[in-house]
Amino acid sequence: MNKFTLEYAQQLDAQDPIAHMRDEFYIPKQDNGEDEIYLCGNSLGLQPKKTSEYLNYELSQWQKLGVKGHFSGDYPWMPYHEFLADESAKLVGAKPSEVVCMNSLTANLHFMMVSFYQPSAKRHKILIEDHAFPSDHYAVESQVKFHGYDPKESMLLVKPRDGEDTIRTSDLLKIIEEQGDEIALIMLPGVQYYTGEVFDMQAITQAGHAKGCKVGFDLAHAAGNLVMSLHDWQVDFAAWCSYKYLNSGPGSVAGCFVHEKHHDNKDLPRFAGWWGHDKETRFEMENTFIPMQSTEAWQLSNPPILSLAAIRASLDTVKMAGGIETLRKKSIKLSAYLREILMQELSSQISIITPESEEQSGAQLSIIVNTGDGKIIFDEIEAKGVTCDFRHPNVIRVAPVPLYNSYTDAYQFVSILKEALV
Ligand SMILES: *Cc1c(COP(=O)(O)O)cnc(C)c1O
Repeated sequence: MNKFTLEYAQQLDAQDPIAHMRDEFYIPKQDNGEDEIYLCGNSLGLQPKKTSEYLNYELSQWQKLGVKGHFSGDYPWMPYHEFLADESAKLVGAKPSEVVCMNSLTANLHFMMVSFYQPSAKRHKILIEDHAFPSDHYAVESQVKFHGYDPKESMLLVKPRDGEDTIRTSDLLKIIEEQGDEIALIMLPGVQYYTGEVFDMQAITQAGHAKGCKVGFDLAHAAGNLVMSLHDWQVDFAAWCSYKYLNSGPGSVAGCFVHEKHHDNKDLPRFAGWWGHDKETRFEMENTFIPMQSTEAWQLSNPPILSLAAIRASLDTVKMAGGIETLRKKSIKLSAYLREILMQELSSQISIITPESEEQSGAQLSIIVNTGDGKIIFDEIEAKGVTCDFRHPNVIRVAPVPLYNSYTDAYQFVSILKEALV
């Protein structure tokens, strides 16, 4: 049977147990009034319909109660971040006490490095990818310099082999095995933003720990996308933003994980603030910092409640869909369908650099256009209602998001790309 037909795609949608979740989101419209084919949820996730309700509730609490809103209402602001802990923990496979929503992603990476990057003359390197997301590169470079080391010596940059697009796990493990004694910190993504490659976080963590390295992950493209077990994997720390697969709105507050084995380590350096102080005595306003016995200890400030309300709305939609495991199940099928019809129709004109196996890919395909100018093709498909993104020099990234994308979206995307490549 030919799977590249509208009927076939519609049939898959009809069989999709969570197809109705699309109605929980606002889908941007094209000029002709039809839904955009929105495949950009890896950059900015769409707005859940609940978001404005949850935000408006907090605005009205503020209107009616002023400062008393900190302690009154269904969701008092004082403990507001606690309302997010259970569902955030499920997303990354952690205990609720190991996660907290605070700050922004890059800020959290810095705060984590303050605690987990303790270079010494013998062990001063940070292992990251050569083609890391720029913010991560800058953060690592500036931390190295801050400690008085030379980024040229202390940044160990891993890249794919010549002629390959993604990094082999075996190569990573070999570097860790050979140079681990000099590596203070391994900081890698859960999902590589450009190629969509999923890293084997468990194997990397194990290899790093065997050599005495700390291991942290940037989960910007993994949170809300993959099923993870940070606690069981013994990962030291992780941080993620909430506006990509977590649909909490532009610049919304980020997430952070610190393994509980570090919670009562008094030797760990930390940049502290009052929101990290033991909540029982926080308002006694004493000068002695007594940290919370949880990842909350890394909090600095009282958090932006409106942003946390948006995160609560987003976490509720994930829960309503049946949780991350259910999303991942659909995601695997949806991505496989998209890949299959892309290769069936366009294999002579494109290649997909995202690894094909289930273990090594999530809800993103990175497509290289081999014929013509990638940017011109990209502009053409955008004009026809597709929203996805283009990364220089020639990669089109598309993210079929299980919460709101349909098999019909996948079909339409391939039809439009096919027309543009004629
Ligand atoms: C999206 C993304 C960021 C963005 O950082 P912000 O601090 O949220 O602006 C950083 N790193 C990675 C890997 C990303 O994918």
